[in-house]
Amino acid sequence: MSTVSAYAANSAAEPLTKTTITRRAVGPHDVAFDIHFAGICHSDIHTVKAEWGTPNYPVVAGHEIAGVVTEVGSEVTKYKVGDHVGVGCFVDSCRECDNCKAGLQQYCTGGGMIGTYNSVGRDGTPTYGGYSGAIVVDEQYVLRIPDGMPLDAAAPLLCAGITTYSPLRHWNAGPGKKVAVIGLGGLGHVAVKLANAMGADVTVLSQSLKKMEDGLRLGASAYHATSDPDTFRQLAGSFDLILNTVSANLDLGAYLNLLKVDGTLVELGAPENPLVVPFFPLGAMRRNLSGSMIGGIPETQEMLDFCAEHGVLPEIEVIAPEYINEAYERVLASDVRYRFVIDTASLRD
Ligand code: NAP
Ligand code: ZN
Ligand code: ZN
Repeated sequence: MSTVSAYAANSAAEPLTKTTITRRAVGPHDVAFDIHFAGICHSDIHTVKAEWGTPNYPVVAGHEIAGVVTEVGSEVTKYKVGDHVGVGCFVDSCRECDNCKAGLQQYCTGGGMIGTYNSVGRDGTPTYGGYSGAIVVDEQYVLRIPDGMPLDAAAPLLCAGITTYSPLRHWNAGPGKKVAVIGLGGLGHVAVKLANAMGADVTVLSQSLKKMEDGLRLGASAYHATSDPDTFRQLAGSFDLILNTVSANLDLGAYLNLLKVDGTLVELGAPENPLVVPFFPLGAMRRNLSGSMIGGIPETQEMLDFCAEHGVLPEIEVIAPEYINEAYERVLASDVRYRFVIDTASLRD
């Protein structure tokens, strides 16, 4: 067992503060690594602020983790000391159900995936995430960060990257497909880059035109403000696929109307309140509404390799751990360009 520094939330109302946590001793199949960078995902904020139910405080959030291997267990074959590795939203699952066997560990039916934080590990102890100096994870749940990919920008790929890559692949985003991305935040900006790299024609639907220049530079061919009612008239029936990355509840009917016949809106945002879906915009054009959650281990590795090959990297603002609380406020105000990434150096000593 080892002790490491971390930033934890002790309740929904208090700011996160520095603390220490313990990591388990390195078992035969475990990889221990120093965390160098951890992204701040909006899901961290939903969890810490108890918007998805009361979590098990203290919560050490962070599931976009990138670092360097410091020790491996006796049976580990995939990694060695010095390797650049990452961990995403889960650190274990049952490994026996059909979904786990198919590499869809995020949809584990044998008790569910074990979250990187706010879960209980196989050893019966709470899991603590990336806002800390080091972590110990079974090698099967560790990803390889491709050579030459900077660790700070790689971190957000472990959640924002795979969460958008998986539905883009599943619904065949590519040449000839018109894809819209709602919300240009952490997930949204990676979605634009990925869909563009896959060859799709990408439109950004943002609250205002403030980030238009960025959206076009990231790879969108069009950018519209959703505060302008004309957007919904002009774009009606336009898209094959819409990814909704917004953290709040939207008028889904208005966005469903933007799909072609048989088009699909994939809900990626996980707002606190239930989704409301009116029938006519859905049924009248045989449209589809789906959800999607992160991605499994094989697809996450595929996504990292795709990003290395196509030069897809998140745009980040690197911060010190002391800035986490302010960063949370800025994410809540949609004032993020486009992912905060914590440099965890001061948590490693
Ligand atoms: P984020 O960086 O805060 O981005 C969300 C974006 O949504 C904002 O930048 C803003 O974009 C837009 N937005 C925010 N509030 C809005 C409102 N009231 N009305 C309209 N648009 C609004 O968050 P994120 O980290 O990308 O996460 C987004 C959501 O996805 C969260 O709910 C998170 O929990 C969820 N998530 C789900 C999965 C999954 O597996 N399904 C994985 C990760 C995260 P504009 O300024 O451009 O409008
Ligand atoms: Zn996330
Ligand atoms: Zn399973």
